Amino acid sequence: MTTLPGRFPGGLELEGHKSLANQCPIRFAGLPPRLLFPLRQRNGENARALVSIGDLVRRGSVIAGGNQPLDPPIHASSSGRVIAIEDHGMAHPAGISSRCIIIETDGLDESIAALPALDTTHCSPESLLDRLHEAGIVGLGGAGFPTAAKLLKGKTAIDTLILNGAECEPYIACDDRLLRERANEVLQGAALLQRCLGCRTTLIAVEGDMRLAWQALKAAQSAGDFDFIQIIQVPSRYPAGGERQLIQLLTGREVPSGALPAAIGVICQNVATVAAIHRAAAHGEILDSRIVTVTGAGVQTPQNLEVRLGTPIGFLIEQCGGYTGQAHGLIVGGPMMGYTVNSDAIPVTKPVNAILVTGAKSPATIPDPQPCIRCGACAEACPASLLPQQLYWHTHDQQLQRALDYHLLDCIECGCCDAVCPSHIPLVHEFRQAKQASLSQQRARDSAAHARMRFEARQARKEQEQRDRELAAQRRKASLGGHASPKIQEALERARQKRAKQNESLASETTHNDP
Ligand code: SF4
Ligand code: SF4
Repeated sequence: MTTLPGRFPGGLELEGHKSLANQCPIRFAGLPPRLLFPLRQRNGENARALVSIGDLVRRGSVIAGGNQPLDPPIHASSSGRVIAIEDHGMAHPAGISSRCIIIETDGLDESIAALPALDTTHCSPESLLDRLHEAGIVGLGGAGFPTAAKLLKGKTAIDTLILNGAECEPYIACDDRLLRERANEVLQGAALLQRCLGCRTTLIAVEGDMRLAWQALKAAQSAGDFDFIQIIQVPSRYPAGGERQLIQLLTGREVPSGALPAAIGVICQNVATVAAIHRAAAHGEILDSRIVTVTGAGVQTPQNLEVRLGTPIGFLIEQCGGYTGQAHGLIVGGPMMGYTVNSDAIPVTKPVNAILVTGAKSPATIPDPQPCIRCGACAEACPASLLPQQLYWHTHDQQLQRALDYHLLDCIECGCCDAVCPSHIPLVHEFRQAKQASLSQQRARDSAAHARMRFEARQARKEQEQRDRELAAQRRKASLGGHASPKIQEALERARQKRAKQNESLASETTHNDP
């Protein structure tokens, strides 16, 4: 393994458990009887449904549109009929529901025409951004941030592109299998992005224990014209695949608190996202499916499935042979950063990279919390150099501002502090909720500021219209006085004399009445 220019603080050596699911090739999960598409967007509002109950749709039909320019459209992932638009549980750390479009599939899987292919060696960055939005491309590493928006934010002065294949969470193996089977797509996407971003360096990071993925990338690199890409193995230390930690490892640069990687000239993209970018550009494919790792002691045959978006989790478990007798709980994501859900009826959305069905004796079965003994283990393990115990005191006491002063928003929710806490305090749960509360407050402030701006702009417009009307009246009057026809001039003169006479009689009445 090459010597890396940097290292990150804290972190943990974890047992991988990836071999549970990464032994067999990716398999298509099949079409479920129903597909569910949550309308909730990142800002908490619902996308606008563009279909009604009873409508027929095909794979690729746009069924809902974002209410912000950078919220990508929502596409149907197979053909069928819209049977309901109603509230339904969705994959979300807060366990919320969302308005969902529910489609009964017809089994025919008919598609609309694909988008036209772009010329990937010459297309402009703007046309690529438009395509990524149109094709609904978002980050597939778990965050689900719209890719066009992310690239726009880093549009200026990017010198390094990093492709994140360091799948550091235990159990998750979808990127491992993707790299083994579709390395060429990833390299093609990297070449396209490097050209459109205009950056000098492109790095692909894979974990040290993803040996076969690394070999597949090397083989694809030798077979194609990809010598400009550096393929780098990073230590299997959790969370090496965290965006900030990976940037620090590979470049030695630290992303400042509260800033984005673009601030230091870096853009980081998950490898599956880059493969999707390539397919959207080169083949006009929309993002309507993703690879999901279904794994854990609670599922019969753990594996990686190619899943149409909207497929209920329960259908995937069935495709993996069903639950085992020791199935205990459902986690979306890995055991460290994932979150528990209480129903397998919720659908797969773009950020869902894994379903972990825990067994009865799973480490995710947490004992009751005890008081903090101030051992400091959480601070030592924190890869973001935070002080989790202080953060916990403030978030637990609802002192949100104090928690923000302690850089709550820099917490990457990696779970290292939870994992080492001898008192089993649910630190990450607390931080996640506090971050949500902070985001909600920020949204409320933004919304109030937006409403105020709209009101002020409306007032200013009305005042301007009034001024324009007065000016126009004055001009009309002036033009009538200067160039009116003789008849109009006579009428104006009569009116003037009448007014003068009235003024005179008024003046004389006032004089006579004076004592
Ligand atoms: S690891 Fe747990 S017990 Fe130790 S200081 Fe942190 S919160 Fe307290
Ligand atoms: S969850 Fe947050 S506070 Fe805890 S170790 Fe990770 S980054 Fe640090």
